[in-house]
Amino acid sequence: MEKAAALAELATHIAACQQCPLYQTAHRAVPGDGNPNAEIVFVGEGPGAKEDETGLPFVGAAGKFLNELLESIHLKREDVFIGNVVKHRPPGNRDPLPHELHACTPWLDKQIDIIQPRLIVTLGRFSMAHFLGEGFTISKIHGQPKRRNNQVVMPMYHPAAALYQGSLREVMKKDFKKIPKLLTVLKKES
Ligand code: URA
Repeated sequence: MEKAAALAELATHIAACQQCPLYQTAHRAVPGDGNPNAEIVFVGEGPGAKEDETGLPFVGAAGKFLNELLESIHLKREDVFIGNVVKHRPPGNRDPLPHELHACTPWLDKQIDIIQPRLIVTLGRFSMAHFLGEGFTISKIHGQPKRRNNQVVMPMYHPAAALYQGSLREVMKKDFKKIPKLLTVLKKES
């Protein structure tokens, strides 16, 4: 099946998912959005209020900053795929709980299997932990690409963190600047 169709079909299953209680308090699922043939997939934490309203990832304040970061390396949202580790909004934007992550991350893994990106950029600690395992500290490894199985994972701060802590804006911009070069290297390998 074509990637777009496979992702769309998966999204219908995500929308109907009742594997954890988050669907009970959310208005709708936010499966993820973007280019099914993307070379880069960005993975955040979970939908906030705006995302829960619209069904689209990163459309609130953190999303505005993410757009700015993408533009700074001449990428548009349509060039990449953007998703989250949990697909329904945790009430009050609390952290996702272990059983919610356990129930929901197979959806993300299926999306990654379909898209087969060259690079996965994790935004925040929950996304980092999903791809790299526990035991890493974001302040120590942000901006440092790591190989995991046949994937390359670049951990980054969450854009929302930069809204609370202004000094992280420049840190994130600097980390994003590494993406184009890394992508060129990865393309040469294949
Ligand atoms: N924060 C996230 O982690 N994901 C979104 O989609 C929006 C805000």
